Amino acid sequence: MKKKHLAILLSKLMGFPDPKPELEQYRTPGNVASELLWLASSLGDIQGRIVADLGAGSGILSIGSCLLGAKKVYAVEIDRKALEVAVKNASSLGADCIEFVNTDVSKFGKIVDTVVMNPPFGSQVKHADRPFLLKAFEIGNVVYSIHLAKVEVRRFIEAFVRDSGFKITHRVTLPFEIPAQFPFHRKRLERILVDVYRFEGTRYGEAKAE
Ligand code: SAH
Repeated sequence: MKKKHLAILLSKLMGFPDPKPELEQYRTPGNVASELLWLASSLGDIQGRIVADLGAGSGILSIGSCLLGAKKVYAVEIDRKALEVAVKNASSLGADCIEFVNTDVSKFGKIVDTVVMNPPFGSQVKHADRPFLLKAFEIGNVVYSIHLAKVEVRRFIEAFVRDSGFKITHRVTLPFEIPAQFPFHRKRLERILVDVYRFEGTRYGEAKAE
């Protein structure tokens, strides 16, 4: 599969049925998801790996990971309705390696090889991405995550990652389009910039015997 092909497949998936602003339910655009997954795949972090997608929403990152050869993907999402869409999206593309887990990310306890996530950006609830980063560094040694490309967010991420004993190995800045979906959105299409990060370190959770 080519990167462009993956982007097109992923952009055709269904989005949130009834987006909730307090959960910051913005789906990742196909091109951004495909860039993140392509980077991860080229660095050997997807194929044959156990992956967790934290805040999986309608499933784009889980499905893409599965299509690129992940051994297993945990799609962790608090909103049951969003997860129902993810199940349908996965079956529409034959992505059959996903286990859907309807829970708060802070309660998820499996150890994985790679975490992929597009956490809430924290524009509604400040630092809403913190529980996601904490969980990611607990369960995985390699983490891909998407955050706003703003100076203050970069500073927060850099400090948080360092304090967790992790390193930023890659950072790619990409355009990210958000179609108007909430009453407080004034433009039809909001164009923002995001940073896609790869973090690496030693997870602090321990593998448990199953
Ligand atoms: N990963 C998806 C959705 C991103 S939006 C995509 O890339 O398209 C962020 C998602 O995190 C939403 O689906 C929201 O419902 C979910 N979320 C927010 N807080 C959560 C929490 N504490 N536990 C699990 N999921 C959460």
